[in-house]
Amino acid sequence: MLLRRGRDGGVVLSVKGFSAAFDTRPQKGLGFVSHAHSDHVAAGRNILATRETISLIRRVWQLSGGYKPIPYRQDIGLSDSVSVRALNSGHVLGSAMFRLDIGGESLVYTGDINTVQTLTTNPAEPVDADVFIIETTYGHPDYVFPPRHETEAWILKWVSKTIAEGALPAFKSYSIGKSQELIKLFNTYTSLPVVVGKTVANASKTYVENGVALDFIRLGTKDAAEVLGGGEAVYIDSQVRSVPVHRRVKWATVTGWAVRGCPEGFDAAFPLSSHADYRGLLNYVEENRPRKVYTIHGFSQLFAKTLRLRGFDASPFT
Ligand SMILES: [Zn+2]
Repeated sequence: MLLRRGRDGGVVLSVKGFSAAFDTRPQKGLGFVSHAHSDHVAAGRNILATRETISLIRRVWQLSGGYKPIPYRQDIGLSDSVSVRALNSGHVLGSAMFRLDIGGESLVYTGDINTVQTLTTNPAEPVDADVFIIETTYGHPDYVFPPRHETEAWILKWVSKTIAEGALPAFKSYSIGKSQELIKLFNTYTSLPVVVGKTVANASKTYVENGVALDFIRLGTKDAAEVLGGGEAVYIDSQVRSVPVHRRVKWATVTGWAVRGCPEGFDAAFPLSSHADYRGLLNYVEENRPRKVYTIHGFSQLFAKTLRLRGFDASPFT
C-alpha cells in the first residue's frame, strides 16, 4: 500500500493497480471528496462524494465537475477486489469518511471529523479498519473544548448582552457548517431574526433542501433591511464586513482556536468547532483500535507521538 501527498494537499493511495485520490484532484483512477469545505474540494472527473456534498459544492462554490453520488453505509464495489463505504464523519452536512477494503486489507480516510453531537450534525460513526488516515487539526492537549451546551449558553448570553447594549451581535463563521449551527441555535433558543450574508445563505439553503430546518433572511433583501433597520436581530457572515445598520456592530468569531483567547479585531470568540478536540481524537482512535495510524493536518507530529506513547503504531503523514 503506497500513500503519498496529492499535488494540492490530500492523500493519494496506490495499491495493486488501484489508485484513489482523497480530497485532491485525481491524476488517474478515482477521486473522493470528503466534504464541501474549499480546502478539501477537488474538481475533475470520476470523483465520489455524498449527494449532500455535491449539492453544497454546486451551490456554494459553483463547481460542476464530474461528481458521482455515493450513499452512506453501503458497500460499493469498485473492482473485483476493492470496495468502498462512506460513513458519517460528523463534521458538516454531507461529510464522509471513506473506508476502503482492498483485497481483505482495510483503510479509512476520515477527512475532517467531529465526535460530538451538535444541533445540526450527528457524531462520527465508529469505523473498523486496519489503517487510519485521521485529521489532527486540534491534536494538542491545549485544545480541549467545553461541552457544547456550555459554549451555546455562552454565545446566547453574549447575544442578549450585546442587544441590551443597543448593538447588533454579528458572527464571523465558516459558511458551511458552523453558520448553520449558529442559525439553528438562535432559531431554537431565541425569537431573534437571523440575517446572513450571501455565501452563508447559499449553504443554508442546501441544508434546508436536505432536511435541516433553518429560518434565516438573506442580506440584501427587503426583509433583511426591515429587520436590521427595525430592531433586534443577529447577523452571520463568512467574513467581517460592514453591515447596513445605524448602530454599533459587535463582531464575534466561532473557532476551536478561541480556547487560546480572542483574536485581535473581535469583541468576542467562542470555541464552537466542527472538528473533534484533542480528547475526542484520542477517544476515537482508542475506541476503534486501528493497526496503523497516519495523522494529517494541524498537530500531526505531536498527536502521532501521543499515540505511540499509548502503544499505537502511528506516524505523521508527510
Ligand atoms: Zn472541513
